[in-house]
Amino acid sequence: MSEVSVESGQGARRVPARGPLVGEVERELGVKDDGQPGPLVLITAGMHGNEPAGVMAARRVIAELADRPTAGRVVALAGNLGALRRGERHGGQDLNRLWTDPILAELLERDPAEDRPDEAEQRELLRIIEGERERAKAAGREVLLLDLHSTSAGGGPFSVVPDVIASRRLARAIGLPVVLGLEQRIEGPLLTWIVGQGEVGVVLEGGQHEDPQTEEVLSHALRVALDHAGVTHMDRAAARRSRACIDTIRGGVPPVLDMVYAHPVEPEDGFVMEPGWTNFKRVCAEQALGLQRGEVVQAPIDSYMLMPLYQGLGTEGFFLCTPVGRLWLVASRVVRRLRLDRALRLFRGVRAVRPAGAGVVCSPETPRGTESWLALFGYRTSTTDGDQVLWTRRSRD
Ligand SMILES: [Zn+2]
Repeated sequence: MSEVSVESGQGARRVPARGPLVGEVERELGVKDDGQPGPLVLITAGMHGNEPAGVMAARRVIAELADRPTAGRVVALAGNLGALRRGERHGGQDLNRLWTDPILAELLERDPAEDRPDEAEQRELLRIIEGERERAKAAGREVLLLDLHSTSAGGGPFSVVPDVIASRRLARAIGLPVVLGLEQRIEGPLLTWIVGQGEVGVVLEGGQHEDPQTEEVLSHALRVALDHAGVTHMDRAAARRSRACIDTIRGGVPPVLDMVYAHPVEPEDGFVMEPGWTNFKRVCAEQALGLQRGEVVQAPIDSYMLMPLYQGLGTEGFFLCTPVGRLWLVASRVVRRLRLDRALRLFRGVRAVRPAGAGVVCSPETPRGTESWLALFGYRTSTTDGDQVLWTRRSRD
Protein backbone atom coordinates (compact mmCIF):
# COMPACT_ATOMS: atom_id res chain seq x y z
CA MET A 1 0.00 0.00 0.00
CA SER A 2 1.33 3.47 -0.83
CA GLU A 3 2.13 5.80 2.03
CA VAL A 4 2.57 9.52 2.28
CA SER A 5 4.16 11.70 4.89
CA VAL A 6 1.63 14.18 6.17
CA GLU A 7 3.56 15.96 8.85
CA SER A 8 6.37 18.20 7.80
CA GLY A 9 6.71 20.41 10.88
CA GLN A 10 7.33 18.27 13.94
CA GLY A 11 8.56 14.80 13.17
CA ALA A 12 6.90 13.32 10.11
CA ARG A 13 4.58 10.42 10.62
CA ARG A 14 3.56 8.03 7.89
CA VAL A 15 -0.05 7.17 7.22
CA PRO A 16 -1.71 5.01 4.59
CA ALA A 17 -2.97 7.03 1.61
CA ARG A 18 -5.96 4.75 0.97
CA GLY A 19 -6.61 1.17 1.77
CA PRO A 20 -9.01 -1.43 3.08
CA LEU A 21 -10.28 -0.57 6.51
CA VAL A 22 -10.81 -3.75 8.42
CA GLY A 23 -7.82 -4.89 10.44
CA GLU A 24 -5.65 -1.97 9.39
CA VAL A 25 -7.16 1.00 11.11
CA GLU A 26 -4.86 2.83 13.50
CA ARG A 27 -5.68 5.40 16.19
CA GLU A 28 -3.85 8.21 14.47
CA LEU A 29 -5.21 8.46 10.95
CA GLY A 30 -2.90 11.35 10.12
CA VAL A 31 -1.39 14.59 11.37
CA LYS A 32 -0.58 17.66 9.29
CA ASP A 33 1.39 20.47 10.86
CA ASP A 34 3.70 22.80 8.95
CA GLY A 35 4.55 24.69 12.13
CA GLN A 36 2.42 27.66 11.02
CA PRO A 37 -0.01 29.57 13.25
CA GLY A 38 -3.66 28.60 12.92
CA PRO A 39 -6.31 26.48 14.58
CA LEU A 40 -6.09 22.95 15.90
CA VAL A 41 -8.62 20.90 13.92
CA LEU A 42 -9.44 17.57 15.54
CA ILE A 43 -11.14 15.14 13.16
CA THR A 44 -12.67 12.09 14.81
CA ALA A 45 -14.06 9.22 12.76
CA GLY A 46 -15.42 5.79 13.56
CA MET A 47 -16.63 6.64 17.06
CA HIS A 48 -19.15 4.01 16.01
CA GLY A 49 -17.45 0.94 14.54
CA ASN A 50 -20.13 0.32 11.91
CA GLU A 51 -19.44 3.73 10.35
CA PRO A 52 -16.22 3.30 8.34
CA ALA A 53 -16.99 6.02 5.75
CA GLY A 54 -15.73 8.73 8.12
CA VAL A 55 -12.42 6.93 8.60
CA MET A 56 -11.93 6.65 4.85
CA ALA A 57 -12.87 10.30 4.30
CA ALA A 58 -10.48 11.49 7.04
CA ARG A 59 -7.63 9.42 5.59
CA ARG A 60 -8.34 10.64 2.10
CA VAL A 61 -8.50 14.34 2.98
CA ILE A 62 -5.46 14.32 5.24
CA ALA A 63 -3.48 12.52 2.54
CA GLU A 64 -4.48 15.31 0.12
CA LEU A 65 -2.88 17.83 2.49
CA ALA A 66 0.51 16.12 2.25
CA ASP A 67 1.87 18.21 -0.60
CA ARG A 68 0.05 21.44 0.19
CA PRO A 69 1.04 24.24 2.56
CA THR A 70 -1.30 24.41 5.56
CA ALA A 71 -1.83 26.66 8.55
CA GLY A 72 -2.46 25.35 12.06
CA ARG A 73 -2.50 21.69 12.97
CA VAL A 74 -4.86 18.93 11.81
CA VAL A 75 -5.10 15.69 13.77
CA ALA A 76 -7.35 12.88 12.55
CA LEU A 77 -8.19 10.12 15.02
CA ALA A 78 -10.08 6.87 14.73
CA GLY A 79 -12.61 6.44 17.54
CA ASN A 80 -13.50 2.88 18.41
CA LEU A 81 -10.67 0.77 16.95
CA GLY A 82 -11.96 -2.55 18.29
CA ALA A 83 -15.48 -1.97 17.01
CA LEU A 84 -14.16 -0.73 13.63
CA ARG A 85 -12.18 -3.96 13.23
CA ARG A 86 -15.27 -5.98 14.01
CA GLY A 87 -17.62 -3.74 12.01
CA GLU A 88 -19.87 -3.32 15.06
CA ARG A 89 -21.32 -0.13 16.51
CA HIS A 90 -19.57 -0.61 19.86
CA GLY A 91 -18.13 -3.15 22.24
CA GLY A 92 -20.96 -3.25 24.75
CA GLN A 93 -21.15 0.43 25.67
CA ASP A 94 -21.54 3.24 23.17
CA LEU A 95 -18.24 5.16 22.95
CA ASN A 96 -20.18 8.24 21.88
CA ARG A 97 -22.34 8.22 25.03
CA LEU A 98 -19.54 8.16 27.60
CA TRP A 99 -18.47 11.82 27.57
CA THR A 100 -20.25 13.05 30.69
CA ASP A 101 -18.54 14.52 33.77
CA PRO A 102 -19.47 11.62 36.11
CA ILE A 103 -18.34 8.95 33.62
CA LEU A 104 -15.09 10.80 32.89
CA ALA A 105 -14.38 11.27 36.61
CA GLU A 106 -14.89 7.54 37.15
CA LEU A 107 -12.63 6.75 34.20
CA LEU A 108 -9.81 8.85 35.62
CA GLU A 109 -10.10 7.22 39.05
CA ARG A 110 -10.31 3.65 37.78
CA ASP A 111 -7.37 1.30 37.29
CA PRO A 112 -6.99 1.04 33.46
CA ALA A 113 -6.71 -2.74 33.86
CA GLU A 114 -10.40 -2.73 34.86
CA ASP A 115 -11.57 -0.84 31.74
CA ARG A 116 -14.18 -2.48 29.57
CA PRO A 117 -13.38 -2.38 25.82
CA ASP A 118 -15.11 0.93 25.00
CA GLU A 119 -13.74 2.55 28.15
CA ALA A 120 -10.19 1.62 27.14
CA GLU A 121 -10.83 3.29 23.76
CA GLN A 122 -12.15 6.38 25.52
CA ARG A 123 -9.15 6.54 27.84
CA GLU A 124 -6.74 6.58 24.91
CA LEU A 125 -8.78 9.10 22.92
CA LEU A 126 -9.12 11.37 25.94
CA ARG A 127 -5.36 11.27 26.55
CA ILE A 128 -4.60 12.27 22.95
CA ILE A 129 -7.33 14.92 22.74
CA GLU A 130 -6.37 16.49 26.06
CA GLY A 131 -2.68 16.53 25.08
CA GLU A 132 -3.52 18.22 21.80
CA ARG A 133 -5.85 20.74 23.47
CA GLU A 134 -3.25 21.61 26.08
CA ARG A 135 -0.58 22.29 23.44
CA ALA A 136 -3.12 24.26 21.39
CA LYS A 137 -4.00 26.46 24.38
CA ALA A 138 -0.32 27.10 25.06
CA ALA A 139 0.14 28.13 21.43
CA GLY A 140 -3.01 30.27 21.46
CA ARG A 141 -4.72 28.12 18.85
CA GLU A 142 -8.50 27.91 18.47
CA VAL A 143 -9.75 24.30 18.74
CA LEU A 144 -12.33 22.83 16.36
CA LEU A 145 -13.82 19.34 16.39
CA LEU A 146 -15.23 17.68 13.27
CA ASP A 147 -16.77 14.36 14.32
CA LEU A 148 -17.66 12.17 11.33
CA HIS A 149 -20.61 9.77 11.41
CA SER A 150 -23.16 8.03 9.19
CA THR A 151 -26.75 6.92 9.75
CA SER A 152 -28.78 3.75 9.33
CA ALA A 153 -31.63 5.65 7.63
CA GLY A 154 -31.42 6.79 4.04
CA GLY A 155 -32.02 10.32 2.86
CA GLY A 156 -29.90 13.38 3.05
CA PRO A 157 -26.81 13.95 5.14
CA PHE A 158 -26.81 16.71 7.76
CA SER A 159 -24.82 18.24 10.58
CA VAL A 160 -25.71 18.05 14.26
CA VAL A 161 -24.83 21.40 15.74
CA PRO A 162 -24.92 22.74 19.28
CA ASP A 163 -26.73 26.06 19.33
CA VAL A 164 -23.58 28.07 19.97
CA ILE A 165 -22.84 30.86 17.51
CA ALA A 166 -19.26 29.76 16.67
CA SER A 167 -20.31 26.16 16.00
CA ARG A 168 -23.29 27.34 13.96
CA ARG A 169 -20.98 29.50 11.85
CA LEU A 170 -18.71 26.54 11.06
CA ALA A 171 -21.67 24.31 10.21
CA ARG A 172 -23.27 26.96 7.98
CA ALA A 173 -19.99 27.32 6.11
CA ILE A 174 -19.88 23.56 5.48
CA GLY A 175 -23.34 23.80 3.93
CA LEU A 176 -25.03 20.54 4.93
CA PRO A 177 -28.46 21.04 6.52
CA VAL A 178 -27.81 22.22 10.06
CA VAL A 179 -29.91 20.50 12.72
CA LEU A 180 -30.12 22.43 15.99
CA GLY A 181 -31.85 21.16 19.10
CA LEU A 182 -30.81 17.53 18.65
CA GLU A 183 -27.36 17.55 20.24
CA GLN A 184 -28.53 18.41 23.76
CA ARG A 185 -31.07 15.55 23.71
CA ILE A 186 -28.33 12.96 23.29
CA GLU A 187 -26.61 11.86 26.49
CA GLY A 188 -22.82 11.96 26.51
CA PRO A 189 -21.58 12.49 22.93
CA LEU A 190 -17.99 13.67 22.42
CA LEU A 191 -19.40 16.80 20.71
CA THR A 192 -21.27 17.94 23.82
CA TRP A 193 -18.24 17.42 26.04
CA ILE A 194 -15.86 19.33 23.77
CA VAL A 195 -18.30 22.22 23.25
CA GLY A 196 -18.85 22.23 27.02
CA GLN A 197 -15.08 22.89 27.32
CA GLY A 198 -15.63 26.06 25.29
CA GLU A 199 -14.42 24.68 21.94
CA VAL A 200 -16.13 24.77 18.54
CA GLY A 201 -17.59 21.53 17.20
CA VAL A 202 -20.00 19.89 14.78
CA VAL A 203 -21.00 16.32 13.99
CA LEU A 204 -21.21 15.53 10.30
CA GLU A 205 -23.67 12.76 9.41
CA GLY A 206 -22.59 11.91 5.88
CA GLY A 207 -25.45 9.64 4.79
CA GLN A 208 -26.24 5.96 5.06
CA HIS A 209 -23.55 3.63 6.45
CA GLU A 210 -23.14 1.51 3.32
CA ASP A 211 -23.80 4.17 0.68
CA PRO A 212 -20.58 4.81 -1.29
CA GLN A 213 -21.60 8.46 -1.55
CA THR A 214 -21.23 8.90 2.22
CA GLU A 215 -17.42 8.93 2.09
CA GLU A 216 -17.65 11.41 -0.80
CA VAL A 217 -19.95 13.76 1.13
CA LEU A 218 -17.80 13.65 4.27
CA SER A 219 -14.65 14.31 2.22
CA HIS A 220 -16.20 17.39 0.59
CA ALA A 221 -17.49 18.60 3.96
CA LEU A 222 -13.99 18.21 5.49
CA ARG A 223 -12.36 20.11 2.62
CA VAL A 224 -14.82 23.00 2.98
CA ALA A 225 -14.42 23.01 6.78
CA LEU A 226 -10.60 23.12 6.57
CA ASP A 227 -10.86 25.92 4.05
CA HIS A 228 -13.27 27.85 6.27
CA ALA A 229 -10.99 27.34 9.30
CA GLY A 230 -8.09 28.83 7.33
CA VAL A 231 -6.04 25.61 7.34
CA THR A 232 -6.06 25.42 3.55
CA HIS A 233 -6.76 27.85 0.75
CA MET A 234 -8.70 25.90 -1.84
CA ASP A 235 -8.41 27.02 -5.41
CA ARG A 236 -11.66 28.37 -6.77
CA ALA A 237 -12.47 25.37 -8.95
CA ALA A 238 -11.99 22.90 -6.09
CA ALA A 239 -14.04 25.05 -3.70
CA ARG A 240 -16.81 25.32 -6.29
CA ARG A 241 -16.78 21.54 -6.80
CA SER A 242 -17.07 20.76 -3.11
CA ARG A 243 -19.76 23.35 -2.46
CA ALA A 244 -21.74 22.30 -5.56
CA CYS A 245 -21.66 18.69 -4.42
CA ILE A 246 -22.94 19.63 -0.97
CA ASP A 247 -25.62 21.96 -2.42
CA THR A 248 -26.84 19.24 -4.79
CA ILE A 249 -27.10 16.76 -1.95
CA ARG A 250 -28.92 19.24 0.26
CA GLY A 251 -31.54 19.69 -2.49
CA GLY A 252 -34.60 21.55 -1.27
CA VAL A 253 -33.96 20.94 2.43
CA PRO A 254 -33.90 24.19 4.45
CA PRO A 255 -30.36 25.23 5.44
CA VAL A 256 -31.13 25.29 9.18
CA LEU A 257 -33.70 23.24 11.06
CA ASP A 258 -34.66 22.87 14.67
CA MET A 259 -35.47 19.47 16.10
CA VAL A 260 -38.77 20.22 17.81
CA TYR A 261 -40.25 16.77 18.49
CA ALA A 262 -38.78 13.42 19.50
CA HIS A 263 -41.19 10.49 19.57
CA PRO A 264 -40.49 8.32 22.65
CA VAL A 265 -40.70 4.54 22.34
CA GLU A 266 -40.23 1.72 24.86
CA PRO A 267 -39.07 -1.76 23.86
CA GLU A 268 -42.42 -3.27 24.93
CA ASP A 269 -44.34 -0.80 22.69
CA GLY A 270 -43.63 -2.91 19.60
CA PHE A 271 -43.14 0.34 17.66
CA VAL A 272 -43.16 -0.14 13.87
CA MET A 273 -42.31 2.76 11.60
CA GLU A 274 -44.38 3.08 8.41
CA PRO A 275 -42.18 2.06 5.45
CA GLY A 276 -40.59 4.59 3.11
CA TRP A 277 -39.51 7.36 5.50
CA THR A 278 -36.09 8.90 5.03
CA ASN A 279 -34.26 11.89 6.47
CA PHE A 280 -35.87 15.23 5.53
CA LYS A 281 -38.94 13.77 3.84
CA ARG A 282 -41.82 16.22 4.29
CA VAL A 283 -44.33 15.32 6.99
CA CYS A 284 -47.91 16.65 7.13
CA ALA A 285 -49.68 17.12 10.45
CA GLU A 286 -51.80 14.06 11.35
CA GLN A 287 -50.06 11.90 8.78
CA ALA A 288 -49.68 8.27 9.93
CA LEU A 289 -46.02 7.60 10.74
CA GLY A 290 -46.08 4.28 12.57
CA LEU A 291 -47.83 1.83 14.87
CA GLN A 292 -47.30 1.75 18.62
CA ARG A 293 -49.15 -0.51 21.07
CA GLY A 294 -51.56 -1.29 18.23
CA GLU A 295 -52.42 2.37 17.64
CA VAL A 296 -51.56 4.64 14.74
CA VAL A 297 -48.93 7.27 15.54
CA GLN A 298 -49.80 10.55 13.85
CA ALA A 299 -47.50 13.48 13.12
CA PRO A 300 -48.24 16.31 15.56
CA ILE A 301 -47.11 19.07 13.17
CA ASP A 302 -46.09 19.89 9.60
CA SER A 303 -42.37 19.17 9.61
CA TYR A 304 -39.40 17.25 8.20
CA MET A 305 -38.60 13.64 9.18
CA LEU A 306 -35.26 12.85 10.80
CA MET A 307 -33.77 9.47 11.72
CA PRO A 308 -36.82 7.16 11.45
CA LEU A 309 -36.24 4.00 13.49
CA TYR A 310 -36.05 0.99 11.20
CA GLN A 311 -33.41 -1.21 12.77
CA GLY A 312 -32.36 -2.17 16.22
CA LEU A 313 -33.63 -0.72 19.43
CA GLY A 314 -33.89 2.95 20.04
CA THR A 315 -35.47 5.22 22.58
CA GLU A 316 -36.92 7.50 19.89
CA GLY A 317 -39.07 6.30 16.98
CA PHE A 318 -38.34 9.40 14.93
CA PHE A 319 -37.51 13.07 15.24
CA LEU A 320 -39.34 15.96 13.57
CA CYS A 321 -37.71 19.23 12.52
CA THR A 322 -39.04 22.59 11.42
CA PRO A 323 -37.13 25.19 9.39
CA VAL A 324 -35.38 28.01 11.22
CA GLY A 325 -35.83 31.39 9.56
CA ARG A 326 -33.08 33.86 8.78
CA LEU A 327 -34.60 36.42 11.10
CA TRP A 328 -34.35 34.05 14.09
CA LEU A 329 -30.71 33.31 13.28
CA VAL A 330 -29.80 36.99 13.07
CA ALA A 331 -31.84 37.91 16.16
CA SER A 332 -30.25 35.12 18.21
CA ARG A 333 -26.78 36.36 17.27
CA VAL A 334 -27.66 39.92 18.25
CA VAL A 335 -29.34 39.17 21.60
CA ARG A 336 -26.50 36.87 22.64
CA ARG A 337 -23.72 39.20 21.55
CA LEU A 338 -25.34 42.19 23.26
CA ARG A 339 -26.17 40.09 26.35
CA LEU A 340 -29.80 41.17 26.28
CA ASP A 341 -30.77 38.54 28.87
CA ARG A 342 -32.46 41.20 30.96
CA ALA A 343 -35.25 41.17 28.39
CA LEU A 344 -36.18 37.70 29.63
CA ARG A 345 -37.53 39.28 32.82
CA LEU A 346 -40.40 40.56 30.68
CA PHE A 347 -41.72 36.99 30.54
CA ARG A 348 -44.09 36.03 33.33
CA GLY A 349 -42.58 33.63 35.85
CA VAL A 350 -39.01 33.87 34.49
CA ARG A 351 -36.14 35.01 36.72
CA ALA A 352 -32.39 35.09 36.13
CA VAL A 353 -29.94 33.14 38.29
CA ARG A 354 -26.79 34.85 39.56
CA PRO A 355 -24.13 35.29 38.34
CA ALA A 356 -25.48 36.79 35.13
CA GLY A 357 -25.69 34.23 32.34
CA ALA A 358 -25.69 31.24 34.73
CA GLY A 359 -29.26 30.38 33.84
CA VAL A 360 -32.90 31.32 34.10
CA VAL A 361 -35.58 29.67 36.21
CA CYS A 362 -39.13 29.18 35.01
CA SER A 363 -41.93 28.73 37.54
CA PRO A 364 -45.33 27.08 37.02
CA GLU A 365 -46.90 30.39 35.92
CA THR A 366 -44.50 30.72 32.96
CA PRO A 367 -46.68 30.59 29.84
CA ARG A 368 -46.28 27.69 27.43
CA GLY A 369 -44.14 28.53 24.44
CA THR A 370 -41.63 30.54 26.48
CA GLU A 371 -39.06 27.79 25.72
CA SER A 372 -38.79 28.97 22.13
CA TRP A 373 -37.89 32.46 23.37
CA LEU A 374 -35.33 31.03 25.77
CA ALA A 375 -33.76 29.14 22.85
CA LEU A 376 -33.28 32.45 21.04
CA PHE A 377 -31.01 33.50 23.91
CA GLY A 378 -29.20 30.15 23.82
CA TYR A 379 -30.96 28.61 26.84
CA ARG A 380 -31.76 25.12 25.58
CA THR A 381 -30.87 22.68 28.34
CA SER A 382 -33.32 22.21 31.19
CA THR A 383 -33.26 20.50 34.57
CA THR A 384 -36.36 20.23 36.71
CA ASP A 385 -36.31 20.81 40.46
CA GLY A 386 -39.80 20.43 41.94
CA ASP A 387 -42.05 22.87 40.08
CA GLN A 388 -39.08 25.00 38.95
CA VAL A 389 -37.20 24.47 35.70
CA LEU A 390 -33.63 25.72 35.35
CA TRP A 391 -32.56 26.55 31.80
CA THR A 392 -28.87 26.87 31.03
CA ARG A 393 -26.79 27.71 28.01
CA ARG A 394 -23.26 27.08 26.84
CA SER A 395 -20.42 29.16 28.13
CA ARG A 396 -18.75 31.49 25.66
CA ASP A 397 -21.89 31.89 23.57
ZN1 LIG B 1 -22.35 7.45 14.67
